[in-house]
Amino acid sequence: MDRISDFRSDTVTRPTEEMRKAMMTVEVGDDVFGDDPTVNRLESLAAEMLKKEEALFVPSGTMGNQIALRVLSDPGDEIILSDTSHIIQHEVGAAARLAGLQTRTLKTIRGRMDPDEVKKCIRGEDIHFPKTALICLENPHNDDGGVAVSPEYMKEIKAIAESEGLHVHLDGARIFNAALHLKLSAAELASYADTVMICLSKGLCSPVGSLLLGTKEHMKKARKIRKMLGGGMRQAGILAICGIIGLTKMIERLKEDHERASAFADFLSDIPGISLDRESVNTNMVYFHIKDNMRVIRTLEEQGILVIPHGDRVRVTFHNDVGDGDLERLKKAITDYTGKLL
Ligand SMILES: *Cc1c(COP(=O)(O)O)cnc(C)c1O
Repeated sequence: MDRISDFRSDTVTRPTEEMRKAMMTVEVGDDVFGDDPTVNRLESLAAEMLKKEEALFVPSGTMGNQIALRVLSDPGDEIILSDTSHIIQHEVGAAARLAGLQTRTLKTIRGRMDPDEVKKCIRGEDIHFPKTALICLENPHNDDGGVAVSPEYMKEIKAIAESEGLHVHLDGARIFNAALHLKLSAAELASYADTVMICLSKGLCSPVGSLLLGTKEHMKKARKIRKMLGGGMRQAGILAICGIIGLTKMIERLKEDHERASAFADFLSDIPGISLDRESVNTNMVYFHIKDNMRVIRTLEEQGILVIPHGDRVRVTFHNDVGDGDLERLKKAITDYTGKLL
């Protein structure tokens, strides 16, 4: 097998040639002392792009989300979020374990919780109740097919939160994908939240790193919590330079990933035995149902095509390291597989 077509995730993207070269010569310092000029440059650039007061470079998106939870709540508080959010499904229970939070999860359809349900979950004053601290949003909503959630919905949730004195955290791991689909700026999406986490290590191709953004006051607390969690890095400019290249050069090309995902979803729509929610294919992912998904995944793997299971679905992700050739290869393998089933 000479070639692997890796559709498992956009996290598999390797740093670009330009990133690798820039890492060799970049200026660095000790970032825990605030001395790394490149980390400082990345943080200012991101804050400017998302129109937030300050940004904080963190090792991973999970750490960024977890720091936000701690900044915006006290242990024993309650948070309201989607039952299929990354924070609930993929962060090893950290909201409970690390932030000491009780989670109130709501059913989600195409990335949206019902705003009336959200309202009902907000606790009033009662000696028995925990305090509701914040509402978490995710856009695009990964588990619902990478669906982009409308700014109107985010605005509605933000208004509910504000009227009750709550904060909003946005898990914007792929915020630029959502913004691209919705044809608006990432800053607009960020404006509906107090804190926002964005990943540099997914579609933007950085090897490592995410950013948490918010007010100066929140980021001051966040910096201290990052240190507590062991996320204070030293000559992190070596990584931050890749983030700068990601934010300045890699956003525009995300549209290619969206186009390939969309073409692939159209292709699947015509195949008997495969079903998918076409409407939710907005960004770079395609989730589909097929009988015995693990068998398909194994069959593709034998041919050097990697995809991942998600419950009883299959997930295919498009990114910088898979092109039209890989897409054609995937389509042919699926045609062969489903043809044999007929
Ligand atoms: C990937 C991802 C994260 C976490 O990022 P890591 O860097 O993998 O920890 C958080 N939220 C969403 C929606 C993600 O897709």
